[in-house]
Amino acid sequence: MTIEFDAAVFRAPDAPLTVERVSLPDTPPPGEVLVRLKASGVCHSDLHVLVGEWEVPAPMILGHEGAGIVESVGEGVTTLAEGDHVVLSWTPSCRRCRYCVSGRPVLCDMVSRHSANHLSFDGRTRVTAADDRDVHSFAGLGTFGQYTLVPESGAIAIRDDAPFEQAALIGCAVTTGVGAAVNTAKIRPSDTVLVLGCGGVGLNAIQGARLVGARRIIAADLSDRKLEQARVFGATDVINSAREDFEDRVSQLTGGRGVEVAIEAIGLLRTIESAYAVLARGGRAVVAGQVADGVRVSIDPFVLSDQELSLVGSNYGSSKPAVDFPLLVEHYLNHRIDLDSLVTRVIGLADVDEAFDEMKRGVGIRTVIKY
Ligand SMILES: [Zn+2]
Ligand SMILES: [Zn+2]
Repeated sequence: MTIEFDAAVFRAPDAPLTVERVSLPDTPPPGEVLVRLKASGVCHSDLHVLVGEWEVPAPMILGHEGAGIVESVGEGVTTLAEGDHVVLSWTPSCRRCRYCVSGRPVLCDMVSRHSANHLSFDGRTRVTAADDRDVHSFAGLGTFGQYTLVPESGAIAIRDDAPFEQAALIGCAVTTGVGAAVNTAKIRPSDTVLVLGCGGVGLNAIQGARLVGARRIIAADLSDRKLEQARVFGATDVINSAREDFEDRVSQLTGGRGVEVAIEAIGLLRTIESAYAVLARGGRAVVAGQVADGVRVSIDPFVLSDQELSLVGSNYGSSKPAVDFPLLVEHYLNHRIDLDSLVTRVIGLADVDEAFDEMKRGVGIRTVIKY
């Protein structure tokens, strides 16, 4: 038996998503769970696909930032049961490979082999289109549709008193941003932190820096509106790089020293090089932004060794979803991080293309699809 549902399907770059009828087996295979989505964020990574900056297989259900309720579980599933509220993880882990057992599940072998190629852990798809074609699911999730089948480790149980619209954002932007600050950069209270780019990831990096008590948090962006939002999430100083000299301002704000931590949260060549250029001696630049295919940056390797700088990447905030998702929910419900201000619009699935238009125009922070 199958379940039929509507999903926003990507078929070719630069065309609007089509909402079409698709189907999924209603009985989860062994080790998987069937989740009924209640909310999905619309993320910049979906836009990367939509405009052709990332090449992906088609047709594909986009969306990778979701929360919902477990509908049923497959044979052998032990950590989830029907009715559990869950946030979906786009790095489900095999729990056995060298990365999983050494505490870096984001780098799991199965994720790089399958989820990153928009497939299930057996290397196959789960969804079928009305024309019988196999449909990929973005990052193995495909949250722009009401149902999804994911490996047990791809659905993390959370408290059931958290609203789905806010919880969904933990599935990507919040974990990516807060995690880049807390897990990857390992910010200390004595650090001055710079965040470049105040979109969904950047604002969360800012509140991650606030969460761990960074002494000063400088936000940089080209938009005054985004810089105002940055202050809401904890920025103590802001730089509008469209009208201010970025390096001069950082120098001025840090007494000429530079910053201990710079988090790049846009994924552009210029901002990655800028993050690296304003580090204090011993500083670390964290690239959390997702870069378009083919971008190359240039750095001075003499300064790298001479000043013991670090340039590190952060994928999914170097998180351990099974631990970090429930913790982030807890922080939210205890008012230590702000998820409410991130949700600037709630829409139905049929209006998903409007969400991308607004994203292109830089309007709002996060649009959430509610099912
Ligand atoms: Zn995302
Ligand atoms: Zn693994």
